[in-house]
Amino acid sequence: MKNSKVKIIALIMWIIFEIVAVVLWLSKDNIFYLLNFSYIGTSIALGLVLMANNQPYARRIVQLLVGTYMLVYLGLIDNENMQIEGFWYYLFTGVFEAATIHYAVAKIFGPLIFGRGWCGFACWTAMILDFLPYKTPQSHERRKIGWIRYIAFAVSLIFVSVLFLCKVDNIERIMFWAFLIGNIVYYLVGITLAFTFKDNRAFCKYICPITVFLKPISYYSLFRICCDKTKCINCGKCERLCPMDVEVTNNSRKRKNATECILCMECVKNCPKKAL
Ligand code: SF4
Ligand code: SF4
Ligand code: SF4
Repeated sequence: MKNSKVKIIALIMWIIFEIVAVVLWLSKDNIFYLLNFSYIGTSIALGLVLMANNQPYARRIVQLLVGTYMLVYLGLIDNENMQIEGFWYYLFTGVFEAATIHYAVAKIFGPLIFGRGWCGFACWTAMILDFLPYKTPQSHERRKIGWIRYIAFAVSLIFVSVLFLCKVDNIERIMFWAFLIGNIVYYLVGITLAFTFKDNRAFCKYICPITVFLKPISYYSLFRICCDKTKCINCGKCERLCPMDVEVTNNSRKRKNATECILCMECVKNCPKKAL
């Protein structure tokens, strides 16, 4: 992909986030939304510009900028549960705030434009998992345990439903602890699986409940990796390097593991013929 194209994508992403920032700021009369989405949009655009300039750590910089902001500032300091249980909590309370906005932008409607870019550039769980040694999975064979994500999804929904049905006091405090404990569990399970399967992204492939939203929606993503067959020499390098086992050179939306692409750009960066 030409560097100019990446810069145009950076500009589009920045404009999208600024539109969200201004609309929420004005509609909710809260300047936090302007600062929050401007920060995230600018971080992503910066990462894409760095990527266009062939900076090898561009994506990692965005992960750290956005991931630590959301985990440490929004989650731990501001006590906003941005995990899936936080989404259910805000949804049940009927307010369009915090996790409901986050899910709408990053995980439900946003993926129609940028697919699973959240997973490649911003997720605070993957931000840590990507430091582990198995950036390229040792095997591209999938294990048949992807059903675990549906269990995790159901458990989060049942957990919050029970809190509401039993009219438990101080749910907000429980949500804070759920965020804290949930993240510790995610990191422990993610790191254990990464070493067991020799695959940094094993947690994303089999456990993460958010993929129940992300995978079907990203099927329709506007931004996706496509292969120029006139340039491709079928060397297989892209598929060997892909952390998500995507059948990269097949342009069909139905290609193997199509909805797994996290737009990390490893395939694009490493294609010897610039065919992607
Ligand atoms: S699949 Fe889940 S854990 Fe992995 S990057 Fe996406 S949201 Fe984060
Ligand atoms: S790395 Fe490039 S040339 Fe090699 S198979 Fe992939 S798209 Fe084709
Ligand atoms: S290597 Fe390419 S196909 Fe694989 S996840 Fe990254 S961007 Fe998507």
